[in-house]
This record gives sequence, structure tokens and C-alpha cells, in this order.
Amino acid sequence: MSARLPAQDTKMKAFVADLMGRMTLEEKIGQLNLPGAGDITTGQAGNSDIATKIKKGQVGGLFNIKGVAKIQAVQKVAVENSRLKIPLIFGMDVIHGYETVFPIPLALSCSWDPKAVEQSARLAAREASADGICWTFSPMADICRDPRWGRIAEGNGEDPYLACQLTKAMVTGYQGDFSRNDQIMACVKHYALYGAPEAGRDYNTTDMSRVRMFNEYLPPYKAAVDAGVGSLMASFNEVDGIPATGNRYLLTDVLRQRWGFQGMVVTDYTGINEMMDHGMGDLPTVSALALKAGVDMDMVGEGFLTTLQASLKQGKVTQAQIDNACRHVLEAKYKLGLFQNPYKFCDEQRAAHQLFTPENRQAARTLAADCFVLLKNQNHLLPLAKGRKLAVVGPLGDNRLNMPGTWAVAVDASKSVSLLEGLKAVAGEGAQIVYAKGSNLEADAALEERASAFGKTLNRDPRPAAELIQEALTVSQDADVIVAALGESAEMSGESSSRSNIEIPQVQKELLQALLQTGKPVVLVLFTGRPLALKSEDERVPAILNVWFGGTESGLAIADVLFGKVNPSAKLTTTWPQTVGQVPLYYNHKNTGRPLKAGAGFEKFRSNYLDVSNQPLYPFGYGMSYSDFSYSEVKLDKNRAHGNDTVTASVTLTNRGSVDGKEVVQLYLRSMVGSITRPVKELKGFKKLLVKAGESTTVSFALTPEDLKFYNSELKYDWEPGEFVVMIGGNSRDVKSAPLRWDR
Ligand code: BGC
Repeated sequence: MSARLPAQDTKMKAFVADLMGRMTLEEKIGQLNLPGAGDITTGQAGNSDIATKIKKGQVGGLFNIKGVAKIQAVQKVAVENSRLKIPLIFGMDVIHGYETVFPIPLALSCSWDPKAVEQSARLAAREASADGICWTFSPMADICRDPRWGRIAEGNGEDPYLACQLTKAMVTGYQGDFSRNDQIMACVKHYALYGAPEAGRDYNTTDMSRVRMFNEYLPPYKAAVDAGVGSLMASFNEVDGIPATGNRYLLTDVLRQRWGFQGMVVTDYTGINEMMDHGMGDLPTVSALALKAGVDMDMVGEGFLTTLQASLKQGKVTQAQIDNACRHVLEAKYKLGLFQNPYKFCDEQRAAHQLFTPENRQAARTLAADCFVLLKNQNHLLPLAKGRKLAVVGPLGDNRLNMPGTWAVAVDASKSVSLLEGLKAVAGEGAQIVYAKGSNLEADAALEERASAFGKTLNRDPRPAAELIQEALTVSQDADVIVAALGESAEMSGESSSRSNIEIPQVQKELLQALLQTGKPVVLVLFTGRPLALKSEDERVPAILNVWFGGTESGLAIADVLFGKVNPSAKLTTTWPQTVGQVPLYYNHKNTGRPLKAGAGFEKFRSNYLDVSNQPLYPFGYGMSYSDFSYSEVKLDKNRAHGNDTVTASVTLTNRGSVDGKEVVQLYLRSMVGSITRPVKELKGFKKLLVKAGESTTVSFALTPEDLKFYNSELKYDWEPGEFVVMIGGNSRDVKSAPLRWDR
């Protein structure tokens, strides 16, 4: 199904023009105002301060109100007590599910399954819309190559090609064709380059060349626009020295003129006001700057509401600019069908029956299991045979509140299934599973407090670390296998959760060391919202399953994978470094003029480090399975191509293991020569397919000149003839390759 907006443009334009013809200046500016829910969440909708503003026509929409009854009551104020009865739009951060929570987006991306990702967005939209929400601030399309940045958890990883497919899938999943009351408006964010802050510190300065921007960072936002996304959020950071919120080049020249975006642009939370701290002037100045740049709606800060009238009088903005913004907001409401029925998304029956349903929870469980990445599995320690005595140890082993992960604002996290509960449920009657916490999340109580934001309490144990470890060792005494549930808490990633040290916290490492010293097999079940520097664990722990934050049902899903009910198939969408000092480390880097020869150790006067190799710990695209896949050499149907030819590249994929399994076959391309330097490889295609144990299958990809295109130094999108290398493999490092020449 296409997510394009319905072709009722003419009707819509006429309707909006007529309405705007009847609006006062104040009412037009009011439509641009998007406050938070404020006192509505606590008090009576009709008597709140916000209600007073709504009645005066000073509010265009509200965000983060939970509950259909509340939303209905506020909508009633707008359509019964404001002069023009213009309905409000209700937004929320529905990022990876609503009450039923799916894996965090970074985890979802590791499924390499656009259909499944689309389905998760569709179910999220169904639940959110049943509860009154018609607009979500998702998907996040920010490419990120720096795991210090906590918001890497909310994106699709480091690769533009994959991110484009997944961003598009989410837009389609949320919006459908807008015809139904379970389809909501998406908002692609954070435009632009929010995922590239200096030093990985959230909200920090971003600076990059236009060539890099266009080739590597802008494509996923553009993919959302091409998929018909209804709205877009400007980012907090600056680009080219101008904050994105006031950046006309980004919001008008590129977004509207180059890409033809027709939807609504909203700021991020107080994005306009923050331009004062960026050093762009006082509130009237930055508000005018934002409007002129192309912002339509002002989230929370009320800069538009409080300054635009005067700015118009003083000639700092024009009537046409205010009208444009107002039109975009009204059109968004029209597309959602709110003028036809302001209560389209207010159906208490739906709210009563469509939230956190067994079907949605089952879908979340299935999807979660497809997002866990098996990083290591020495001597086939996994899957675990049922009947083995397990000791679950670690601060994340029996904690429901952390399971959903960051940005799950609508969830009742206490209804999640913890790992311990999941293991017991899947192992069934009579299973012998014991638990000990073993350590706190962090030794330092203040750090742990920061990692427990939003009430996701970790129940700190006041006893000394040595005592907790001793208890864990005692509890584990009779176990056959120890399952160590370690890593980050949910709020150690996400917004404003940057880390300079991306290892497992030291106190947990000490626990792990003690567990390993027992000599019993240890399975590390790793919780994290970002790639971690896991070198010492990789060296010592026999099996590592990275489970990210898998959502409300992930306790069950983890058990499904550990016991082999589900064969893991996910692959990393970010490079995992050996050490944080290698960051930014990404597979699609440039060759440089002094590359290290393949397989070489340190070489003086080459591009490398004295103290660590250039290699990642786990490369982009990597992930193991309980099956054992092997790849044949790459076959091309021709090794010289011309003009608009299609080249077919294929491999034979064999499952040499004893269980059926799914493999993500990845196609990479390298252009050996270009008018600008080109990456050493770029993902150009992938296929996820099931191969039965002992069977082989041929996997083919069709390459056309479209796959060769890039933005050159004039920002022209075209291909250049020359020598290429086609690579196919199960990750970005271990590939088979074949040369190809392509002429005009
Ligand atoms: C975040 C956005 C989010 C907004 C509204 C901001 O702090 O950066 O991603 O949509 O808040 O909650």
C-alpha cells in the first residue's frame, strides 16, 4: 500500500482557502502553536489554562496527552467553544509501539525486514489511534556512526540504503492512505544531521560537507518525503552554522524546492527559543527566522504565538509567510480527516478493546525474537536444552520496567515480561531456574540514578558489591548454565543519554568475571541501546546474545531464542568498535591515500593506530545463527556492462547446519574510481530468506545504473562509468567479490 496522500488536493486547497479567508491574523498564528498537554493531564480539560487558549483560537494542536476521554474532552472545547471550530491535532512520541511496545528502532532495524517494521508501525498506529492520537513524532531517520550518542537507539543505524528502506516502511505503516481511523500521520525527524553531533554529545554542533550530507545523511529523510510523509521535524543542532530550525537552505531550498515536500514542518521541543542560546538573536528575531526558513508549527516555546503579530507590523515577516505556515497546518488536519470528523480518532470502544491485546503482544514477541543479534556462540553453547538448571544473574535479569526501552511514553512498563519470567514461562513446569541480582547497575549511586530516569527504577541494593557477588555465586552453585543479564538500563540510551565510556559498567564486569571463574558455561544476555565496546567480554564469554531493549514481550522472546524455539537471524546495522577511541567507525568509510594493506598489522605512515587495529569487533551486517551458512563465489551474468544494462549477481547460499534458519544476504558495491572519492563499499541490496537445514539456494540481485548513482561535487545525482567490485556476503566484512566494468 502506498503512503501517498490521497489525490484530493484541489478539494483540500479550496476548503483551506475558504477557511483561511475567514480567519483573523491571531487565529492563523494560533494554528502554528503546539503546546504540551500542560494542566490538561492533571485537571479538568474544560477549565485548564490550555482550554482558555483553545477557546481564543490560540492552539493548533497538543501533544503527549494519554487517554481517549481526555483527548475527546479537549477536542470538544476546540470544536464547540472556539470561533471557527477548527479541530486540534493530537501528537505523541509513539516511537516503537504504544501500550504494546516493540523493540527499540535500532533493534528493529537489525531484523533487516521492512515488512515486519512496517507491521510494527501499523500496529503502533492502530493502538495509538484507538486512544485518540492521530500524529506520531516518528520515524527518526538520523544516520548515526557514533555510539556515544544515546539516540542511536532510536534510529536505523549507520547505513543510508537500509535506513531508507526502513524509514519508508515506517511511514507506510503509520499512515497507510489516511483513509481509516487507525492510520495516523508520521513525522520524520530530526531534520537534519541530528545523528552527527560532535563527540557524540547530544544537541552538540554538527558540521559536514554538502557532499557527505547528500550522499550519506540526507537520503533517509528524503525517502520519507518520497513515501509521502505528512510532517517533518526540524532538529535542534546547527548545520552550516545555522540552527536547523532557522535554516532556510534545509527547510525550503532542499526540502520543498529540491524534494517537493508538501507537508507540515514542526520544530522540536522549544527549538525556536533555543536559537537564542545558539546566538541567533532575541525571541522575536529567532521566531521570524524560523518562519522565514520554513517552519510551520512551533512546539512548546510559543515564540510564534507571542511575537509574530508584532513582527508582521514591523515588516520582519510577511503575511504570505504566516499564511503559508497556517495552510500547511490546516492541510495536515484535512488530510487526517479531522474537518470531516474531529472525533475520528476518539472511539472509546476501540480504546477499550484494541490496546495491549494478546494479538499485538504476540506480534511484538515474534518480532522481538527476530531483532536479537547472536554475537558469539562458542561450541554451540546455545540453544540451551530444556531441563538444564539455570541461574539467572544480573541487575537486568528480573526487571520488568526496563524491558520496553527508551521512549515508550504510553506503556505501563510494569506489565512487561522480565527475562526471568520469560525463561520460566517458556521452560515450563518443573524447570529449575534461580535468580540473584549479583550487582547493581552502577557502583556509583548517582550514576545509577541518572540511568533510572522517568521512574524506571532499578531497585538499588544497598549491600556491598562483594556481598551481592557472593550471593550470586551461592545461588548459582547447582546451576548447569549461568545466564548473565547485564549491560545498560533503558535510560542509558535515548535522549540526553550520551556516554563517553561505552563499556558495560565496571561493577557488572566484576560480577561477570566472578561468574566466569566458577568454570560454568556463561551466556551473556546483553541489554543495550547502543553498540558497546565489548572486547573483553568477547574474549572471555562463550556465548553472547545481544537483546537490545526488545519491548514489553521481550522476556518471552529472549527465552524463545535461548531455548531454540526461534533461530536468531538478526544482523547488526551499526559497526561495533573494539574501543571507543576508534569511533566514528563505520563500514562505508573512504580508502584514504594511505590505506593499510588488507590483513596487515601496524604500519608506520599508514592510516592506523599504534595501539589498536582498524578492525571493528563486530562489523556492520554481522550476526550469527544456530544454522551455519556458507556462500559460493559471486557469479555475474556479464562482467562488462553498458548504459542502461542490468547485471545479475548471484551466489549459492548453503545451510550446512542441522536446523532451518533465516539468513540476510547482503550486496555491496565499490566504485574504484570517481570524480569524488567513493566509499570502500556501499550496501546496495539485501534479501532475507529461510533456508532449510542441509539445503542450498541461489540468491540473485539485479544491478542497474540507478545503483551506481551518487551526488557529485556539484550535488548532481548521476553515475559515472568505470571499474566496480560487486560483493556478496553475510556481513560487510566477509564477502565474496567479482569485478565489473560499466561503460556509458
Ligand atoms: C525530542 C523529539 C520529541 C520531542 C517531543 C524532543 O525532546 O528531541 O524527538 O519528538 O521532544 O516529545
